[in-house]
This record gives sequence, structure tokens and C-alpha cells, in this order.
Amino acid sequence: MGLFPQRFVEDLKQHADIVTVIQDYVSLRKTGATYKGLCPFHGEKTPSFHVNRDKGFFHCFGCGVGGDVFKFLELHEKIGFQEAVKQLAQRFGVPVPELEQSDEQRAGAQERETLLKIHEVAAAWFTEQLASAPAARVRALVADRDVSPATASAVGLGWAPPQRDALKKALLGQGFSQAMLLRAGLVVQRDDGSVIDRFRNRLMIPICRDSGSVIAFGGRALDADQQPKYLNSPETPIYSKGRTLYGLNLSKTAIRQGGFAVLVEGYFDFAQVYQAGVQPVVASCGTALTTQQAQQLRRFTGKVVLSFDPDAAGQAAAAKSCEMLVEEGFEVNVATLPAGEDPDMFVRKHGRDAYSERLRRSQPYLEYMLDRTAAGFDLRTGEGRASFVDAALPILDRIPDRTRQELFVKEVAGRAGVSEDAIWPRAKKAVTSRLHSPSTSQLPGLNQVTKAEKGLIWLLIHQPEQALVALAALAPADLEGLASSSVLDLARKLNDDKKFSPSVLLEQLSMAEAQLVTGIASEGEAHAHDPAECARILTRRRYERERTTIQREIDRLQQQPNGSGPEEVEALLTRKMELIRKIEGLR
Ligand SMILES: [Zn+2]
Repeated sequence: MGLFPQRFVEDLKQHADIVTVIQDYVSLRKTGATYKGLCPFHGEKTPSFHVNRDKGFFHCFGCGVGGDVFKFLELHEKIGFQEAVKQLAQRFGVPVPELEQSDEQRAGAQERETLLKIHEVAAAWFTEQLASAPAARVRALVADRDVSPATASAVGLGWAPPQRDALKKALLGQGFSQAMLLRAGLVVQRDDGSVIDRFRNRLMIPICRDSGSVIAFGGRALDADQQPKYLNSPETPIYSKGRTLYGLNLSKTAIRQGGFAVLVEGYFDFAQVYQAGVQPVVASCGTALTTQQAQQLRRFTGKVVLSFDPDAAGQAAAAKSCEMLVEEGFEVNVATLPAGEDPDMFVRKHGRDAYSERLRRSQPYLEYMLDRTAAGFDLRTGEGRASFVDAALPILDRIPDRTRQELFVKEVAGRAGVSEDAIWPRAKKAVTSRLHSPSTSQLPGLNQVTKAEKGLIWLLIHQPEQALVALAALAPADLEGLASSSVLDLARKLNDDKKFSPSVLLEQLSMAEAQLVTGIASEGEAHAHDPAECARILTRRRYERERTTIQREIDRLQQQPNGSGPEEVEALLTRKMELIRKIEGLR
């Protein structure tokens, strides 16, 4: 996919007045320097949706969404950046430059389009087969699993009949080539050269992009001896298993409105939970969640409630998915179900309310992990408590940020009836890894964004010249681990490349980052501080973080029985004194 030239995008932004655009959807009233209206992204009765015409951004103080004119269209129309640009260009009569594409890119785009078309036709054909007379047994089976006709139609269930090449014939009849059918993975070539349908005698579940286009299928076996139980489309130019979250096309709006997503494992878990009216739900489909899937989800929410099978495999997948989500900066809760019941079964057996109650009672991830760990030991005995602490330490090592590590240690100490100081020195990896590699995976909104950071961000939008000077003077380490580091880093980089403007910054931010920035920028003069002072505070904080880390390391070394060299401690003490001097110098 080619890119639009930056000049054109900037030019378009000049024309596409944000108030005019948003007024198509929201009735806005001018109050002071900004425009106000009822937020189109969440239900409200008093307006908390603000539009700043001069700076070209919107922000809702109710639900937190914010961004520039492109982000508004992306969110409201559920389209991508490119599409938003095209729509605005058309509306304001700005000619769209030809996207530069090589022949290869053009051919690739053409192929992907054909593959999408094939999937669309195949999905419709499977649905038709499910409605046909020979499929009565399959429909009975679906009804037997308590999937209503409405749900079956929402998820697009279909049936692949048992004949060896019924789909192939149908698609060839529509004018698609056999080569493209092979490329789509809907037919397979056998050793004898014959080409037959991949899916035969299976209940077909279409897998979609979040835009709704079908890109692959899952096929569930219908006979007891049929293997495998689930057969999936292979990876194709339009489908990558690790990048696709099942059901997002149906649930993305509910996820954004609800502010969280329930993550289940299978197609039927999804169908049942969705049917029960818990609509912000997605399924990982089998394996533990991947980073790319997490990033897909991140566009809609930063909070996930895991609802996996309580069996051992389910729990292991849950633990793995949890860790990855926490590392990606998600807030994660875990909902547990009684032994032997997956969400599908639970909802069918106990109903919607009982399931909602389980979700309400879901535990924060760390608490859940601790409960699981503690369950294995008798905390009434000294030995049991010691073993519990041993078992909890590896969890501590995986927690990405300082604040949550501290909460965790407090909790472990409380349960084991020991002091926190007895635990810290043993958390070797957690502490030393902090020395060398500060956490990089922190995202806005999770850590507290400090006043100094807010000051710089406010100034970046309203008085960028001074803010950029102060920002350029900071060392990269000063920004590491800050809640707003990704935003400040981007501003620095744009400035280095001589490309910075508040509007370019807003355009390049992720959804979560844009919310953070527009939220701060919408707050009157509250954050109009001296930028140099903000920068000084950030540098001082970094020295203070280093000092704390070094102190812990010193404590640890001194507590080791066969003491490591006093030289090592000596060097750390010297470094600590240096830091204290620097900190004093910045007060
Ligand atoms: Zn809102």
C-alpha cells in the first residue's frame, strides 16, 4: 500500500475544518475558545465532547476518545486512515495524488482483492447449503448446541457438504480460476494431481477482518470419527492466524462503548456469550494470544477480562495470554468458572445473569495468580509460607513496572506474614533487570502521567517552540519508563527530522496516545508551566529512580551471606553519591 505525501495530508487538513466535519454528526455549540456537544462515542446527557478548531483536535472528557479530524472519521465511520483521507479529500474537493505503486504492489493488491471476493462468494454458498434440505441434520446439531438462528446468521454459519468438489465447481462456475482457489486455500491438490475441496462435511465458521470481510474459515467436524475436530484455512496473502481476533467485526463497537473486551477461547464460547447479550467479546481460537492480536484489540480498548476453560490447558493458555497482555500494557482481569465448564457450557447451563456475575467478580491478574499460587501451599505452617514466597518470586520477575511490582510484593508479604524487606533482596532478576533495561512496554494511562509530563505535552500543542527546546535538551534515559514516553519520544523524533507541528504529532499518535494528548491539551491553561522546569523535574526523577535501584542492589549485595566483593558495593556507593549530588543540583 502506498503512502500519501505529507504535503498533501497537511494541505487537506487546512481545508478539512474539524468543526465543519464533526458538525455532520454532532451538533456543536461554541463556548469560549472551543466547541461543545454530546459525544457520539458514548451515551451522555450533558456535553463533555470538545472540539478545538484552531488546534484541530477533539476530545471527550466522558469516555476519553480524542484525536485529529482523521481519527474522528476513522472512529466514527470505522474505516482506516487511508479511507478517511480519501473521504475528506472528496468532500473538500482536494485532488488525491496517485499513490505510488510498483507493478508488484499492484499485482499483489489485485490478488488480495480476488481472494476476498472468493471468500465472500464461498461464505454465501456455505450459508445457502446450511439452509438446504440435506443439511437438516446439521441445523439440528446447531440448535442442539443452543445457537439460535439469529446468532447463526450473525456469525454467518454455513455447511460444507460431503461431496469432494461441490464448492470447487460452484466457484469455477462463478469464473474464478483453479489457481486462485488453491491460493485461497479452499481447495487442495492431492498426490494424484486431483484438486478437491478442503472442507467437506463440516460446519463452516467464517473468520472475518474487523471490517467484516471474510478472510478464512474454520470448519468443525460433524461426525464422531472425523479428524481433525477443527480444520482451519491455511495462512494466505489475506489471512494470518496470529493477527486475527475472531469476532471483532461483530463486537468492536460494543468493546469501545463498554471499555473492555471479554476474551474467550473458541467459536462456540464466542457464539454463546455473544448470544447471551455480553457483546464486547472476542475469541483467540485455540492458542494463547499473540502480540499482534493484542495490538488489534488495543485499537478498541486497554482492558481485557479473560474467560478461559478451567481445564489445565485453558489455564496455561490463560496464564500465557495474561502475561503477554500485561507486558503490552493492558489491564487484565481473570474470570473463573467451575471445574469442567467452559463459557459455552456455563452460559447454556446457568444463563446470562450468572455469567455476567462471574465477569463482575473477575479478579485482577496479579491477585488471580497469587490465589492460584497460594492454593498450593498450607499458609498456616512456616514451611508452607516460605514455599509460597519461593513460588511467587518468578511472577514478580515478570511484572513490567515498578509500581505493580511494589503492590505485588506488599500482597505476597501480607499473605506470607513476612516483611516486604525480606522479599525484595530475593527478587534478584526483577531488581537487576531494572538496572539495565528499564521497561519499554508502558503505555499512556496506566502509570500516572506526572504534572511535569502534562506540562510538556500541553505546551507541545499550545506553545510548541519552547517545549521543543526543553524536550531536545533531555537525555533519552530521562523519558524511559514514563507513562507518556512514547508521546514525548515521537515529538522529539519529529523535531529532529524538522517535521514537528502539533497537527503532525496528533496524526501519528496511536489511539491511546491521542486520547492522552487531547485530554491534556483540552484542559485550559492548567498545565501552562515553564517547559525548562518540567524538563528539570523529569531529569531529577530519572536520577531518583537510578538511586533507588542502586540502593536495592546495595542492600541485596550486603545481605548475601558469602558476600560478593566489597569493591562492587563501594562502586555502587560512589555512584549513589554522584546521583545525590546531581539530584540536589536540580532542586
Ligand atoms: Zn465520549
